[in-house]
Amino acid sequence: MFDNLSDKLDNAFHVLKGHGQITEINVAESLKEVRRALVDADVNYKIAKDFTNTVKERALGQDVLKTLKPGQLMVKLVKDELTQLMGGEAEGINLSGNPSVILMSGLQGSGKTTFSGKLANFLKNKKTKKPLLVACDVYRPAAINQLHVVGEQVGVEVYSEEGNQDPVAISKNAIAHAKENGHNVVIIDTAGRLAVDEAMMTEIKNIHDAIEPHETLFVVDSMTGQDAVNTAKAFNDRLNFDGVILTKLDGDTRGGAAISIKSVVNKPIKFIGTGEKMDAIDIFYPSRMADRILG
Ligand code: GDP
Repeated sequence: MFDNLSDKLDNAFHVLKGHGQITEINVAESLKEVRRALVDADVNYKIAKDFTNTVKERALGQDVLKTLKPGQLMVKLVKDELTQLMGGEAEGINLSGNPSVILMSGLQGSGKTTFSGKLANFLKNKKTKKPLLVACDVYRPAAINQLHVVGEQVGVEVYSEEGNQDPVAISKNAIAHAKENGHNVVIIDTAGRLAVDEAMMTEIKNIHDAIEPHETLFVVDSMTGQDAVNTAKAFNDRLNFDGVILTKLDGDTRGGAAISIKSVVNKPIKFIGTGEKMDAIDIFYPSRMADRILG
């Protein structure tokens, strides 16, 4: 994960680690390398610049030049700041309802259906949760089938209505079904499009407003770089979602989305997807991610 970025950051610190005596110029050079590495990893230029400026201020404030191991202190400062940029603490999802209704949003192909199955599995394994998966992609029968396959894999019931073209009605019926059958979590998988469009946004907003979910999650493919951040912004402007799910972090992704999404939409990344299998789900811990990025 993020191998390229990790290598480049490592190189950036070589400048500092290699000098017996380091100067403010060395620190500035090193931070310039850090900034370049972030931009190459698809972090927006302004975020990267603000980031290195903050680290520089901290470094000067801590008299980094006078410490015994300035290189190590710089790595620590960058790690701390990366953790902050990615949200600081891990944030869970709201499961206070009975049932707790979780609405999934995002573009087609982002990994919504897969993640819905993973989340159902994750919650089911907690023993106190009995999830219900709901298929609301009324346009693509294949998507409904896919959710049924996923539900079968994880042993979770899937609610769908053949022939019903109204996702708001399906969602409401599903919640009633959950109440009748003792499901305390309802995970609603919705229709995405290949790109942000008005019809999709209106549809998801209508579902959102009708069912008032406890948790609205936005799923995004980390491989899409700056587009991931732009799409997050478009969905957040309409839905004011509660959290982000970053998928496909097992692939050859550069890292920009993980690093910058929180600061752009001010919503935490809550889970990550790290594979196609149903157990490839992890809670997102900003500090662990910063550790991985810096090696
Ligand atoms: P949806 O259209 O948003 O419902 O997306 P899908 O759940 O159908 O996922 C699209 C593709 O991405 C499928 O081939 C999934 O197997 C794959 N996928 C989803 N999540 C991950 C992940 O975390 N890692 C990898 N490698 N593939 C994933």
